[in-house]
Amino acid sequence: MTSALLINVVELLRSPGTTKDVDVSVECEAIAFDDARLVDEPVGVQVRLESMSTGITVAGRVSATWAGECRRCLAPVHERLTVDVDELYQRALEDPDAHPIVNDQIDLVPMVRENLLVALPVGPLCRSDCPGICPQCGADLAVGVCGCTAPTRDPRWAVLDALRSTDDD
Ligand SMILES: [Zn+2]
Ligand SMILES: [Zn+2]
Repeated sequence: MTSALLINVVELLRSPGTTKDVDVSVECEAIAFDDARLVDEPVGVQVRLESMSTGITVAGRVSATWAGECRRCLAPVHERLTVDVDELYQRALEDPDAHPIVNDQIDLVPMVRENLLVALPVGPLCRSDCPGICPQCGADLAVGVCGCTAPTRDPRWAVLDALRSTDDD
């Protein structure tokens, strides 16, 4: 199977210092995430391959869409995730973090998958200041404060409250 993420690097290996840009969008399926959080929307890969004496560096960004639940209010969250990547590929693996160059080809799929999976939020939030739900009645505190969270009032205010409610009527 030929993939847009299987890059032939014969030319790069031949001349150190040269670069090759990859800017593709592939089906989510092609990455085989095996993680239900990743949504079936295109995965973007914008990287520059550069031939170095030590191997080929691949740097740029990858993006995908994930969905989940806000950890505080359980609202559905659907977001685009973009991750900066900086990887090294070598024919003979010398660097412990390097990926292999096999048959003069670089397969970007594993590194795209790894970088995105690692960057998925562990405790997603619908928004950074989500107030969550009331632990007692389950009311969505983003919508309004529920009765349970009201502080216990000084009984002396009860008189004023009574007057105020009379006014409201
Ligand atoms: Zn929330
Ligand atoms: Zn409540």
